[in-house]
Amino acid sequence: MQMIPQADPGAGYRAQKAEIDAAVARALDSGWYILGKEGEAFEREFAEWLGTTRAVGCANGTDALALILRGLGIGEGCTVATVSHTAVATVAAIEMVGATPLLLDIDPDTFTMDPDELVAVLEDPPPGLPPIKAAIVVHLYGQAAELGPMLAACRANGVALIEDCAQAHGARLGGQKLGTLGTAAAFSLYPTKNLGALGDGGVLATDDFELAERIAAIRQYGWKERYISSMVGINSRLDELQAAILRVRLPVLDAGNARRRAIAGAYDVALADGPIAPPVRRPGAEHVFHQYVMRVTNRAEVQAKLKAMGVGTGVHYPAPVHLQSAYQGRVPMGPAGCVETARAAQEVLSLPMYPELTGAQIGQVCEALRSLAG
Ligand SMILES: *Cc1c(COP(=O)(O)O)cnc(C)c1O
Repeated sequence: MQMIPQADPGAGYRAQKAEIDAAVARALDSGWYILGKEGEAFEREFAEWLGTTRAVGCANGTDALALILRGLGIGEGCTVATVSHTAVATVAAIEMVGATPLLLDIDPDTFTMDPDELVAVLEDPPPGLPPIKAAIVVHLYGQAAELGPMLAACRANGVALIEDCAQAHGARLGGQKLGTLGTAAAFSLYPTKNLGALGDGGVLATDDFELAERIAAIRQYGWKERYISSMVGINSRLDELQAAILRVRLPVLDAGNARRRAIAGAYDVALADGPIAPPVRRPGAEHVFHQYVMRVTNRAEVQAKLKAMGVGTGVHYPAPVHLQSAYQGRVPMGPAGCVETARAAQEVLSLPMYPELTGAQIGQVCEALRSLAG
């Protein structure tokens, strides 16, 4: 029996090998390797696909978040609200710019920011913290957070709402693509993401043209003119090789997401009538299943059973940010603490999920899931 890995970035490469190899050769032959024609074309094509005025490529998804914060002038003396149940990158980006993260609890059904928590801290900010200037809302696992009330509260309080779309390329809420609803949005292009480079990469998007221009300068030493820094910047560029690869992968992203949804549907059916509930879908949201995440109270046991049947699983994430030693006891939380966050970290379990899973592999996962019913 062949073990089915939980993620398989190599399968994505093999599925488009000839085209990717040709794009890599083209980029190598061009003699221009950083911020050139491939990067510009990718930014244009990504913005067009998403439906925003402008997209700016950068080195990774963490930098995309940090660049948005820098572009908005958010740093020391500012608080940024986000969640603890996320990739640590979200919180790392806030601290990279010198701002203070404020970690809010999640809705236990969808694993995304509890809008009541955000509304509460915006109306009644926790004492002793710098003013809240932004909220980074994470669309975790490929599903939209409940943006409606959060957008309204942010707007009413003059706070920027930044979408962390690192797991949500192509997902929608109320028919609109995530990444077009807030002030700006950050996407990671890490190899396992729904749109993945074959190395590190990131892209951010916004309809605010001036913000995009500022960020485009900040990502390269604050240059508007070569060798002349008009503002303080950093170095965070998307290279031409990755941009050329991403231009091959972007046209198949929507089909890949549809395939992920079909695989999720098969898993749902296999779980029906068993002890484990399939993931909750938010009404009005279109999920892109970056991860298919179940909740189980006996995780180690379920993982071992699935492994014995050749099914690899993952845990996203085993420890919430506020309980990791780098952050524990140091990073402020919302008034209610992070109770649901801590509970989710004990129970989440991710099944194999990528468009290249074969029918036979999906069948093997489903059979293993059915066997859990006993
Ligand atoms: C992957 C990820 C990031 C960071 O992306 P990198 O490209 O690895 O820096 C940020 N936020 C979330 C939710 C992610 O999943």
